[in-house]
Amino acid sequence: MSIQTPPTRSLLRNEAMAMSYLGELPAVLFPEVFKEAFARRHINIVKEMVAVWPFPRIAVGALMETPNLEIYKALLDGVDMGLKEEFQHRFLMTRLETLSITNYITSQRDLNSLSCCESLFQLKHLDLRGTVLYSLDLMPLRALLHKVEDTLEILQLEGCRMIDSQLNALLPALRQCSQLTKINLYKNDFSMHILMALLQHTDNWNKIVVEQYPAPLECYELSHVSRERFSQLCSQLMATLRAIRQPKNIAFASKMCQRCAKHCVYTQVTRLCRCWH
Ligand SMILES: [Zn+2]
Repeated sequence: MSIQTPPTRSLLRNEAMAMSYLGELPAVLFPEVFKEAFARRHINIVKEMVAVWPFPRIAVGALMETPNLEIYKALLDGVDMGLKEEFQHRFLMTRLETLSITNYITSQRDLNSLSCCESLFQLKHLDLRGTVLYSLDLMPLRALLHKVEDTLEILQLEGCRMIDSQLNALLPALRQCSQLTKINLYKNDFSMHILMALLQHTDNWNKIVVEQYPAPLECYELSHVSRERFSQLCSQLMATLRAIRQPKNIAFASKMCQRCAKHCVYTQVTRLCRCWH
Protein backbone atom coordinates (compact mmCIF):
# COMPACT_ATOMS: atom_id res chain seq x y z
CA MET A 1 0.00 0.00 0.00
CA SER A 2 1.48 3.34 -0.99
CA ILE A 3 -0.28 5.57 1.57
CA GLN A 4 0.75 5.63 5.21
CA THR A 5 -1.86 4.14 7.47
CA PRO A 6 -2.83 6.69 10.14
CA PRO A 7 -3.09 5.47 13.73
CA THR A 8 -6.57 4.28 14.67
CA ARG A 9 -7.47 7.15 17.00
CA SER A 10 -6.39 9.93 14.69
CA LEU A 11 -8.16 8.14 11.87
CA LEU A 12 -11.40 8.14 13.80
CA ARG A 13 -11.07 11.76 14.89
CA ASN A 14 -12.41 12.78 11.53
CA GLU A 15 -15.31 10.63 10.38
CA ALA A 16 -15.21 11.83 6.77
CA MET A 17 -11.50 11.07 6.52
CA ALA A 18 -11.99 7.66 8.14
CA MET A 19 -14.72 6.78 5.66
CA SER A 20 -12.48 7.70 2.75
CA TYR A 21 -9.67 5.49 4.11
CA LEU A 22 -11.80 2.40 4.64
CA GLY A 23 -11.32 1.15 1.09
CA GLU A 24 -7.53 1.17 1.62
CA LEU A 25 -7.47 -0.10 5.18
CA PRO A 26 -5.46 -3.35 5.45
CA ALA A 27 -7.62 -6.27 6.58
CA VAL A 28 -5.40 -6.80 9.62
CA LEU A 29 -6.38 -3.37 11.02
CA PHE A 30 -10.13 -3.91 10.60
CA PRO A 31 -10.80 -5.47 14.04
CA GLU A 32 -8.92 -2.74 15.92
CA VAL A 33 -10.49 0.17 14.02
CA PHE A 34 -13.89 -1.49 14.27
CA LYS A 35 -13.58 -1.91 18.03
CA GLU A 36 -12.62 1.73 18.44
CA ALA A 37 -15.41 2.95 16.14
CA PHE A 38 -17.87 0.77 18.03
CA ALA A 39 -16.76 2.10 21.45
CA ARG A 40 -16.97 5.69 20.26
CA ARG A 41 -20.36 5.12 18.60
CA HIS A 42 -19.23 6.18 15.15
CA ILE A 43 -22.46 4.85 13.62
CA ASN A 44 -21.62 5.56 9.98
CA ILE A 45 -18.17 4.02 10.18
CA VAL A 46 -19.53 0.89 11.88
CA LYS A 47 -22.15 0.54 9.14
CA GLU A 48 -19.59 1.01 6.34
CA MET A 49 -17.12 -1.41 7.93
CA VAL A 50 -19.69 -4.19 8.32
CA ALA A 51 -20.64 -3.79 4.64
CA VAL A 52 -17.04 -4.32 3.49
CA TRP A 53 -15.88 -6.63 6.31
CA PRO A 54 -12.98 -8.68 4.91
CA PHE A 55 -13.41 -11.79 7.10
CA PRO A 56 -16.09 -14.50 7.00
CA ARG A 57 -17.19 -13.75 10.61
CA ILE A 58 -17.67 -10.62 12.64
CA ALA A 59 -17.75 -11.01 16.43
CA VAL A 60 -19.70 -8.24 18.10
CA GLY A 61 -20.99 -10.06 21.19
CA ALA A 62 -18.16 -8.84 23.46
CA LEU A 63 -18.59 -5.28 22.20
CA MET A 64 -22.28 -5.18 23.08
CA GLU A 65 -21.74 -4.61 26.82
CA THR A 66 -24.25 -1.81 26.87
CA PRO A 67 -27.06 -2.52 24.46
CA ASN A 68 -27.53 0.39 22.13
CA LEU A 69 -30.30 0.43 19.59
CA GLU A 70 -28.55 2.88 17.30
CA ILE A 71 -25.36 0.86 16.97
CA TYR A 72 -27.34 -2.37 16.64
CA LYS A 73 -29.25 -0.84 13.73
CA ALA A 74 -25.97 0.30 12.16
CA LEU A 75 -24.74 -3.33 12.29
CA LEU A 76 -27.87 -4.59 10.56
CA ASP A 77 -27.74 -1.83 7.95
CA GLY A 78 -24.14 -2.74 7.21
CA VAL A 79 -25.01 -6.41 6.74
CA ASP A 80 -27.87 -5.40 4.46
CA MET A 81 -25.60 -3.14 2.38
CA GLY A 82 -23.04 -5.95 2.05
CA LEU A 83 -25.68 -8.44 0.93
CA LYS A 84 -27.10 -6.03 -1.63
CA GLU A 85 -23.69 -5.45 -3.11
CA GLU A 86 -23.00 -9.16 -3.29
CA PHE A 87 -26.42 -9.78 -4.83
CA GLN A 88 -25.91 -7.11 -7.48
CA HIS A 89 -22.47 -8.68 -8.18
CA ARG A 90 -23.92 -12.53 -8.13
CA PHE A 91 -26.83 -11.43 -10.38
CA LEU A 92 -25.26 -9.25 -13.08
CA MET A 93 -21.87 -10.82 -13.30
CA THR A 94 -22.49 -14.52 -12.73
CA ARG A 95 -23.31 -16.52 -15.80
CA LEU A 96 -25.97 -19.05 -14.98
CA GLU A 97 -25.53 -22.56 -16.33
CA THR A 98 -28.89 -23.92 -15.26
CA LEU A 99 -32.27 -22.21 -15.31
CA SER A 100 -35.16 -24.20 -13.94
CA ILE A 101 -38.66 -22.70 -13.85
CA THR A 102 -41.03 -25.63 -13.49
CA ASN A 103 -44.80 -25.83 -13.02
CA TYR A 104 -45.07 -22.08 -13.09
CA ILE A 105 -47.79 -19.84 -14.45
CA THR A 106 -45.81 -17.58 -16.69
CA SER A 107 -46.79 -14.33 -18.34
CA GLN A 108 -45.70 -12.79 -21.61
CA ARG A 109 -43.78 -10.25 -19.56
CA ASP A 110 -41.81 -12.98 -17.72
CA LEU A 111 -40.99 -14.60 -21.01
CA ASN A 112 -39.91 -11.31 -22.60
CA SER A 113 -37.52 -10.64 -19.74
CA LEU A 114 -35.76 -14.01 -20.24
CA SER A 115 -34.44 -13.03 -23.64
CA CYS A 116 -32.94 -9.81 -22.26
CA CYS A 117 -31.19 -11.30 -19.25
CA GLU A 118 -27.48 -11.42 -20.09
CA SER A 119 -26.64 -13.71 -17.21
CA LEU A 120 -28.53 -16.47 -19.06
CA PHE A 121 -26.54 -16.28 -22.26
CA GLN A 122 -24.29 -19.21 -21.44
CA LEU A 123 -26.97 -21.59 -20.21
CA LYS A 124 -26.29 -25.29 -20.44
CA HIS A 125 -29.58 -26.50 -19.03
CA LEU A 126 -32.98 -24.88 -19.59
CA ASP A 127 -35.82 -26.58 -17.75
CA LEU A 128 -39.35 -25.19 -18.21
CA ARG A 129 -41.25 -28.42 -17.50
CA GLY A 130 -44.88 -27.86 -16.64
CA THR A 131 -44.72 -24.15 -17.35
CA VAL A 132 -47.69 -23.61 -19.65
CA LEU A 133 -46.67 -21.64 -22.72
CA TYR A 134 -49.93 -22.12 -24.57
CA SER A 135 -51.25 -18.76 -25.85
CA LEU A 136 -47.92 -16.97 -25.41
CA ASP A 137 -45.78 -15.46 -28.12
CA LEU A 138 -42.61 -17.60 -28.08
CA MET A 139 -40.38 -15.22 -30.02
CA PRO A 140 -38.57 -14.21 -26.80
CA LEU A 141 -37.87 -17.90 -26.11
CA ARG A 142 -36.59 -18.25 -29.66
CA ALA A 143 -34.31 -15.24 -29.07
CA LEU A 144 -33.00 -16.85 -25.86
CA LEU A 145 -32.37 -20.17 -27.67
CA HIS A 146 -30.38 -18.29 -30.28
CA LYS A 147 -28.32 -16.65 -27.54
CA VAL A 148 -27.48 -20.04 -25.98
CA GLU A 149 -27.17 -22.07 -29.17
CA ASP A 150 -23.46 -22.73 -28.58
CA THR A 151 -23.80 -23.76 -24.94
CA LEU A 152 -27.20 -25.38 -24.37
CA GLU A 153 -26.94 -29.10 -23.64
CA ILE A 154 -30.28 -29.97 -22.07
CA LEU A 155 -33.66 -28.54 -23.08
CA GLN A 156 -36.74 -29.65 -21.15
CA LEU A 157 -40.08 -28.38 -22.40
CA GLU A 158 -42.26 -31.26 -21.24
CA GLY A 159 -45.83 -30.33 -20.41
CA CYS A 160 -45.58 -26.78 -21.79
CA ARG A 161 -48.72 -27.47 -23.87
CA MET A 162 -47.25 -25.84 -26.95
CA ILE A 163 -49.04 -26.05 -30.29
CA ASP A 164 -47.78 -26.31 -33.88
CA SER A 165 -47.38 -22.59 -34.58
CA GLN A 166 -45.33 -22.16 -31.41
CA LEU A 167 -42.95 -25.01 -32.22
CA ASN A 168 -42.72 -23.64 -35.74
CA ALA A 169 -41.54 -20.32 -34.30
CA LEU A 170 -38.76 -22.10 -32.37
CA LEU A 171 -37.48 -24.26 -35.25
CA PRO A 172 -34.81 -21.90 -36.67
CA ALA A 173 -33.26 -21.50 -33.21
CA LEU A 174 -33.55 -25.18 -32.31
CA ARG A 175 -31.69 -26.15 -35.46
CA GLN A 176 -28.68 -24.11 -34.30
CA CYS A 177 -28.46 -25.74 -30.86
CA SER A 178 -25.64 -28.03 -31.90
CA GLN A 179 -24.49 -28.90 -28.36
CA LEU A 180 -27.78 -30.51 -27.30
CA THR A 181 -27.42 -33.89 -25.64
CA LYS A 182 -30.99 -34.17 -24.37
CA ILE A 183 -34.35 -32.76 -25.46
CA ASN A 184 -37.71 -33.47 -23.85
CA LEU A 185 -40.87 -32.27 -25.61
CA TYR A 186 -43.35 -34.74 -24.10
CA LYS A 187 -46.90 -33.52 -23.42
CA ASN A 188 -47.15 -30.87 -26.09
CA ASP A 189 -49.87 -30.83 -28.76
CA PHE A 190 -48.03 -31.31 -32.04
CA SER A 191 -49.35 -32.62 -35.34
CA MET A 192 -47.55 -35.08 -37.59
CA HIS A 193 -46.67 -32.25 -39.94
CA ILE A 194 -44.79 -30.12 -37.39
CA LEU A 195 -43.03 -33.13 -35.83
CA MET A 196 -41.75 -34.06 -39.29
CA ALA A 197 -40.52 -30.49 -39.75
CA LEU A 198 -38.85 -30.56 -36.33
CA LEU A 199 -36.97 -33.78 -37.05
CA GLN A 200 -35.83 -32.38 -40.36
CA HIS A 201 -34.38 -29.44 -38.46
CA THR A 202 -32.18 -31.65 -36.26
CA ASP A 203 -29.37 -32.36 -38.71
CA ASN A 204 -26.93 -30.29 -36.58
CA TRP A 205 -27.64 -32.27 -33.42
CA ASN A 206 -24.52 -34.40 -33.57
CA LYS A 207 -24.24 -34.81 -29.80
CA ILE A 208 -27.83 -35.71 -29.02
CA VAL A 209 -28.21 -38.82 -26.87
CA VAL A 210 -31.75 -38.67 -25.50
CA GLU A 211 -34.74 -37.43 -27.53
CA GLN A 212 -38.28 -37.46 -26.17
CA TYR A 213 -41.15 -36.33 -28.37
CA PRO A 214 -44.93 -36.40 -28.01
CA ALA A 215 -46.83 -38.80 -30.25
CA PRO A 216 -48.57 -36.82 -33.01
CA LEU A 217 -52.16 -35.66 -32.46
CA GLU A 218 -53.27 -37.82 -35.39
CA CYS A 219 -52.74 -40.89 -33.18
CA TYR A 220 -55.85 -40.09 -31.16
CA GLU A 221 -59.42 -41.01 -31.87
CA LEU A 222 -61.79 -39.20 -29.51
CA SER A 223 -58.89 -38.73 -27.06
CA HIS A 224 -57.99 -42.46 -27.08
CA VAL A 225 -54.86 -43.73 -28.78
CA SER A 226 -55.48 -45.69 -31.97
CA ARG A 227 -53.04 -48.58 -31.75
CA GLU A 228 -52.54 -48.88 -35.52
CA ARG A 229 -52.06 -45.18 -36.13
CA PHE A 230 -49.72 -44.84 -33.17
CA SER A 231 -47.38 -47.52 -34.51
CA GLN A 232 -47.66 -46.42 -38.11
CA LEU A 233 -47.11 -42.68 -37.54
CA CYS A 234 -44.31 -43.15 -35.03
CA SER A 235 -42.45 -45.51 -37.33
CA GLN A 236 -42.88 -42.98 -40.11
CA LEU A 237 -41.32 -40.28 -37.92
CA MET A 238 -38.48 -42.63 -37.00
CA ALA A 239 -37.82 -43.36 -40.68
CA THR A 240 -37.72 -39.64 -41.43
CA LEU A 241 -35.14 -39.13 -38.72
CA ARG A 242 -33.03 -42.13 -39.74
CA ALA A 243 -32.70 -40.62 -43.21
CA ILE A 244 -30.97 -37.64 -41.54
CA ARG A 245 -28.95 -39.20 -38.68
CA GLN A 246 -28.83 -42.22 -36.39
CA PRO A 247 -30.78 -41.61 -33.16
CA LYS A 248 -29.38 -43.23 -29.99
CA ASN A 249 -32.14 -43.15 -27.41
CA ILE A 250 -35.41 -41.86 -28.80
CA ALA A 251 -39.02 -42.16 -27.73
CA PHE A 252 -42.44 -40.92 -28.79
CA ALA A 253 -44.99 -41.03 -25.99
CA SER A 254 -48.74 -40.60 -26.04
CA LYS A 255 -50.69 -38.58 -23.50
CA MET A 256 -51.71 -40.46 -20.38
CA CYS A 257 -54.43 -43.04 -21.09
CA GLN A 258 -57.62 -41.99 -19.30
CA ARG A 259 -58.50 -45.59 -18.52
CA CYS A 260 -55.25 -47.06 -17.18
CA ALA A 261 -53.21 -43.89 -16.52
CA LYS A 262 -50.25 -45.25 -18.55
CA HIS A 263 -48.67 -43.97 -21.73
CA CYS A 264 -48.10 -45.69 -25.05
CA VAL A 265 -44.40 -45.37 -25.87
CA TYR A 266 -42.73 -45.98 -29.21
CA THR A 267 -38.97 -46.57 -29.01
CA GLN A 268 -37.27 -49.14 -31.17
CA VAL A 269 -40.36 -51.21 -30.44
CA THR A 270 -43.90 -50.18 -29.55
CA ARG A 271 -44.95 -50.38 -25.91
CA LEU A 272 -48.72 -49.92 -25.64
CA CYS A 273 -50.65 -48.93 -22.56
CA ARG A 274 -52.23 -51.67 -20.43
CA CYS A 275 -55.57 -51.48 -22.22
CA TRP A 276 -54.12 -53.22 -25.26
CA HIS A 277 -52.79 -56.28 -23.42
ZN1 LIG B 1 -54.79 -47.54 -21.33
